[in-house]
Amino acid sequence: MSKQNILKQIRRAGVIGAGGAGFPAYKKLETDADHIIANGVECEPLLYKDRESMIREKERFIEGLRIMRNLTGARKVTIALKSKNKDIADMLEPLASPEGMDIFIMNDIYPAGDEYILVYDVTGKKIPIGGYPTQIGVVVNNVETIVNVAYAVGNKPVTHKFVTITGAVKTPVTACVPVGIGFADCIALAGGVTISNPVILTDGVMMGGVERDFTSHISKTSGGLIVLPENHPLVVRKTAPRRNYMTVGHSACDQCSFCTELCPRYLLGYPIQPHLVMRSLQFVGNQSELLSRWAGACCECNICSLFACPESLDPKSICVDTKNRLRETNGNFTASELSGIYLDVHPRRKGREVPVPMLYQRLGIKRYDRQAQFSEVTIVPKSVCIPLNSHVGTPAKPTVERGDFVHAGDVIADVQEESLGCPVHASIDGIVTELTSISITISNKH
Ligand code: SF4
Ligand code: SF4
Repeated sequence: MSKQNILKQIRRAGVIGAGGAGFPAYKKLETDADHIIANGVECEPLLYKDRESMIREKERFIEGLRIMRNLTGARKVTIALKSKNKDIADMLEPLASPEGMDIFIMNDIYPAGDEYILVYDVTGKKIPIGGYPTQIGVVVNNVETIVNVAYAVGNKPVTHKFVTITGAVKTPVTACVPVGIGFADCIALAGGVTISNPVILTDGVMMGGVERDFTSHISKTSGGLIVLPENHPLVVRKTAPRRNYMTVGHSACDQCSFCTELCPRYLLGYPIQPHLVMRSLQFVGNQSELLSRWAGACCECNICSLFACPESLDPKSICVDTKNRLRETNGNFTASELSGIYLDVHPRRKGREVPVPMLYQRLGIKRYDRQAQFSEVTIVPKSVCIPLNSHVGTPAKPTVERGDFVHAGDVIADVQEESLGCPVHASIDGIVTELTSISITISNKH
């Protein structure tokens, strides 16, 4: 099959990044590359979904890497794992080695999966500021995305998603569930909640958001559901109103600069210094604008807010607000300004990496550190609500109508060929019971 036809097949199967922003996979694979990196480091504490997808789908995973290598012409393929998953490395080695694929073992640190960090650690090359791995000849994909690429070429669209359900639940579990399944159905798989005031952290304790609505649904980019009590310090921090963190940040920051000294992007030599962004709160006008520029390269990892700051301030949220404003106003550093800034990798970078076990203590989640074993149970929920906008690009438009009967795997929404985006597929057999511009609900009457 020609490269164009394989890319079309990957697009038609609806393959998007399964571990982050949901970038359509076919678009990344259009580019020629030197190096493919499989991101299997599973950065967020408590999640096991990447680990389980490699265990359950090891042949497909290697097949997906082979397809990606052929599409991009890459000479090198590296599977990046953490030292805690040495058993996965031993499992993959006999399959990867004959294919000339390497396995790279990283320390169990956070955030190892940030593309800028991962690419530097594996290749020794830095992604340009604000740029993409493809600019330096590297394609990075999450391991589940790679499995989905193999399935796509075998004509199987994306209908299911690996997720971990953990935290204050009876039995933490990892499962492969239909896209669009409700959070409550997922939590039932884990035996239900064990507390009276539960909320859900979606997709991770560090970078995930707080969801109180148990009728929300799993998308193609979901990584996990972590149930915590609503008064857990992490939940309280993450739900603080903007005026609180701005006011307290303005008055309580003593400019100790711990947030900058432990910032992983700063340590890698990117123009990010959260303590200067905090200082910008003390000023108005030009001086404030100049200091704000040090927020532009923030990857939102939350190390500064949830680990580094001794005053429990929230430089991450202030960096995110500032970064968004810089984007709207074109206020980032110019190329000539950047050329005058020292941007080398910090000599103490390795010594300042944050070990995940230390993070468990600091975040107050040690009691939830239980392995989420894979559930073999096949789940067919009574209904699914499938989002149409979970990928980067143009949201898909429905191609079905209310009352239509669909089979799992049928296209139910699509994006025009010339636009960035992918079709969306039914994940169960059933009748379309609701259509909106952002989702399609399918009910299984059987
Ligand atoms: S670590 Fe906290 S107190 Fe220190 S400079 Fe950063 S925000 Fe301010
Ligand atoms: S969230 Fe904080 S630590 Fe992480 S990149 Fe942004 S400023 Fe640095």
